Amino acid sequence: MRVLAFLDGTLADPDQPHVRVDDLGLLRGDGIFETVLVADGVPRELGPHLDRLARSAHMLDLPEPDLSAWERAVRLVIDNWSGGPEIAVKLVYTRGVEGDPYAEPLAYALGMEIEEKVRRARAEGVAVVSLDRGFASDLAERAPWLLLGAKTLSYGVNMAALREAARRGADDVVFTATDGSLLEGPTSSVVVARGRTLYTSPPTVGILPGTTQRAVFRAAEAAGWATKVEPVPGEELHTADGVFLASSVRKLTRVHTLDGTPLPDSTSAHAELARAYDAQYT
Ligand code: PLP
Repeated sequence: MRVLAFLDGTLADPDQPHVRVDDLGLLRGDGIFETVLVADGVPRELGPHLDRLARSAHMLDLPEPDLSAWERAVRLVIDNWSGGPEIAVKLVYTRGVEGDPYAEPLAYALGMEIEEKVRRARAEGVAVVSLDRGFASDLAERAPWLLLGAKTLSYGVNMAALREAARRGADDVVFTATDGSLLEGPTSSVVVARGRTLYTSPPTVGILPGTTQRAVFRAAEAAGWATKVEPVPGEELHTADGVFLASSVRKLTRVHTLDGTPLPDSTSAHAELARAYDAQYT
């Protein structure tokens, strides 16, 4: 089941072609996106997703997105959905057609089912490998034109890292900076637990501000956990009580194995945090 809604409020057949071959999103990955989880008809963290869309658009000098039109497009997808109880709604916004100064950006919301692989990861956890992302943790602040921290469509490197993980017999990746500090996953934020304190690296190190990580921290605080957003040395992963990947569609996923070594059993902390996270939306 898939539902496609364009930003102008029209529905279209997702099985038909709609993107021009000269769209800059396609030719150069010149565009941005968001993926919003909808559960039982309720979009999660829609405001923060739209805020981040606007922030990414600003970083790429794209026209300022009409957030109420985006909200309407998400609603249109939800209202026309007849699939399972959860929807992954992708918001795609590109620079439009090459060479046309009057080109309208390509802008649509596409609702999709949650993949089986994601459901399995949520339930069983994942094995990850740590991989060098090749930049220093102060680069984002020194070189804003590199767009670190914008959610652009240029995910070729992120996808290559996931294939490298698969070659090494793992499911996913945590990236580290050249100083060894923790960054993020190719499609997730990384959360580390030590006792009843959760840690994640700040967006200033060149990573996306995660809407799920923030929601998990909010729920954890309400459940009596402490939370810290501060640079996390990579070695902490090996000595932590729990390591988790957080993103909208996977929610909070437990990491059970790091670089081939089993991590301490964090199933009960994970269950508590995952429950607290879900409970915010019911
Ligand atoms: N970091 C990267 C690189 C991502 O692609 C994502 C989500 O896809 C995240 C972090 C987590 O963001 P969110 O929790 O808002 O989905």
